[in-house]
Amino acid sequence: MARPRRDAAPALSKYPQLWLTKLLEEERLVGGLELTRGCHHKCTYCSVFSAYEGKVVLGDVRQVLNDVDILIDMGMEHLTFIDAEFFNAKRRSFETLTLIHKRHPSLTYDFTTRVDHILEVRDELRGLYNQGVRVITSALEFPKNEVLKQVRKEVNVSDLKTAVRLVQNSGIVLNPTFIMFNPWVGLEDISNFNEFLVETNMENSVDPIQYETRLHLYKGSPLLENQTIRALKMEEHEFYYDWTHPDERVDELFLASVTPVKEGTFKRCCLKC
Ligand code: SF4
Repeated sequence: MARPRRDAAPALSKYPQLWLTKLLEEERLVGGLELTRGCHHKCTYCSVFSAYEGKVVLGDVRQVLNDVDILIDMGMEHLTFIDAEFFNAKRRSFETLTLIHKRHPSLTYDFTTRVDHILEVRDELRGLYNQGVRVITSALEFPKNEVLKQVRKEVNVSDLKTAVRLVQNSGIVLNPTFIMFNPWVGLEDISNFNEFLVETNMENSVDPIQYETRLHLYKGSPLLENQTIRALKMEEHEFYYDWTHPDERVDELFLASVTPVKEGTFKRCCLKC
């Protein structure tokens, strides 16, 4: 079997991983690969859903193992699984992780998965930690049931809290992502957001970029059929729509929250791109 080519790619040290370094509490050279593409789920705001329409393409496990070996030769110490959903094929993900761990016992990992999958694998979390998983990224969206319902997350706020606690108890760091500014949250919800972080013990584990994330309405988004969205004032662009919150104070807060991009860096809302 042909080995994946990495020789044309920049050195791993060229990819800035500042937030991951903070979560890992040490600097580790990071490589990334995926086990699968697409996602079975249908969260209404998600571009993966729009692109794959609920389908999943499985990668070849032997190619993945070959690729890991190449990344190890390049100096990789930590592997980010860049799958949109690590548990697209749950048993396969567990088995592949075990195979990689056997070959490279000192490698650490992070991956992204949904809250409902965290609840499903609650008994396996400690085992994942023992195999080197150090960070799990999960899209919590916003701690408000109406938001979770509108983006079709199939969990409620109580589930979010349980998932965070389960991950934290296993020793793994939960790296949450949010859609802080969206049409279903008001000024009061945003003011109360910190209470959720205190309650879930995540005050120091939220990437600052999460305080300035805003619902993205790309062309083709299923959300364009949503009643709340249809009632918003919108401005059309080539690939997306700008939307205006009904309460102008929320948009003022959003504008005040956006930080300038430092030269030579880029903004990312999770650990994958
Ligand atoms: S689970 Fe994640 S990748 Fe899948 S549709 Fe929802 S947001 Fe997108």
